[in-house]
Amino acid sequence: MAVAGAAQLKKKSSKPCARVQCAVGSSGSDRRQALRLLTGASAGLLLPPFAVVASQGARLLDYRVTQHDTTRLLVDLSQKPDDIALFLLDDPSRLVIDLAGVTNSGQKPSHFAHGLVASVRMGDHPDKLRLVVDLRAEVKPSYRVLTHHNGVRLHIDLGANALQASTQRSSPLRDIVVAIDPGHGGKDPGAIGQRKTREKDVTLKIGLELAGLLSKIRGVRVVMTRNSDTYLGLRERTKIARSQGADVFVSLHADAFPRREARGSSVYALSLKGASSEAARYLAEKENSYDPLEGVDMGDMAADLKRALIELSQSSTIASSLDMGTRMLSNLSGIGAVHKPEVEQANFAVLRSPDIPSVLVETAFISNLQEEKKLNSARFQKQLAQALRAGLLDYLQVRAPEGTWFGSSAARG
Ligand SMILES: [Zn+2]
Repeated sequence: MAVAGAAQLKKKSSKPCARVQCAVGSSGSDRRQALRLLTGASAGLLLPPFAVVASQGARLLDYRVTQHDTTRLLVDLSQKPDDIALFLLDDPSRLVIDLAGVTNSGQKPSHFAHGLVASVRMGDHPDKLRLVVDLRAEVKPSYRVLTHHNGVRLHIDLGANALQASTQRSSPLRDIVVAIDPGHGGKDPGAIGQRKTREKDVTLKIGLELAGLLSKIRGVRVVMTRNSDTYLGLRERTKIARSQGADVFVSLHADAFPRREARGSSVYALSLKGASSEAARYLAEKENSYDPLEGVDMGDMAADLKRALIELSQSSTIASSLDMGTRMLSNLSGIGAVHKPEVEQANFAVLRSPDIPSVLVETAFISNLQEEKKLNSARFQKQLAQALRAGLLDYLQVRAPEGTWFGSSAARG
C-alpha cells in the first residue's frame, strides 16, 4: 500500500493545487471569506503554496485528542510531511489539517468527543491526508512539529483560553468513581467453607486488594462500602455508592452451593424478570436473604410512574452492567475456571440501582474445598483483583462517563 500510495502521489503532485482550493473545493470569494489560512509556529513548513512532491511517503501512525490546559490534537507520523496546512471553516465550525505527502497506514477515524473537539474525520487524498476536526467552539489553532521516537509528532493546539470561554465544557474533568462492595460483614458471615473460611473475610481481602490496584490509576477514585468487618444492610451499600457519586458498583462474594463439586467464578447483573438459571435464582435468594426487605424506595411519586421511569433507566443500566460483567468474566477466565461462560442475571437487591451499572462477582466457590483453599491464598486474591481491574478498565475504555478525566483520550495515551 505504501508503494502504491507513493506512486500515486508523484503523479498527482505535478498538478499544482492551491491550498485554498484544496480546502474548500471552490475558489469563490464568498467561500474564501469563510476561510482563514493559518500559520503554524514553524512558519517555514507552511510557505510553499503548492503541494510538494513526496520523497518517501510519510505515514500516519496514530492520532488522538488530549485535554489539559488546552485541547490538543496529537498526530504521529513516520516522518515529516512535505507540507502542513491548517484552515478554519465556518458553518459548522471545523479545522482542516492537510498533511501533504502523507498516507494513512490503517488508522481508522475515531469518535473523538473531547474538549473543544466534537469529532475527527479523515480523508485519504492522492497527494495528502486530510483530517477534519469538528469543533465545539471558536479556536485559535497553532502547531509544532516535534521529533518523536517513531518519526515526528505534530502538536496541534486549539487555543489555551478557548476552553474556558466555551460554555459547553467549563467544568474540569472529574474522576470516575468505582464503588467496591465486599459482601457480608459483621454479624453476617456469608457462606462458610468446609474449613470454616468465612465469605465476609475473603470478600474484604479481595476488595481491599482491588481498591489498592484501582487507586493507582489516574482518574479513578475508589469508594468502599466497608473496609472493615462491619455489618451493612443491602440498601446501605447502594446508598453509600450513590452518596459518593459512584459510576459503577462491584459487589464481591464467594459462592456456596449444595453441590460441592461446583466451581469457578461467576458474574451477575440484575434481572428485572426471572433469574437466568435455577442456580442464579438460588443464589440471589441466598444473597438477599439476610436483608429480605430491600428494594428500590418508591418515595412519594406515583408508584406506576416511578416504576416506569426506573425500568426505562434500569434497562440501559443493565446493558452496561452486562458489558462490564462480560469483560470481567473474560479476564477471570484467564486465571481459573469460570462457572458459566456468560454473565448471569438474577434479582440481587444490591444490584438494583437504576442508574449505576452494577455487577455481583462470585469469585469462586467457598463450598468447594479446593477453591476454599485458593480463596484463602494471598496469591489468588491478588489474581482475582487483577482480573477484575483489567475487566473494569476494558469497560471504562469504552464506556467511561462523559466529563471524566479517564474518558478523555489522554488517559488512553
Ligand atoms: Zn455472598
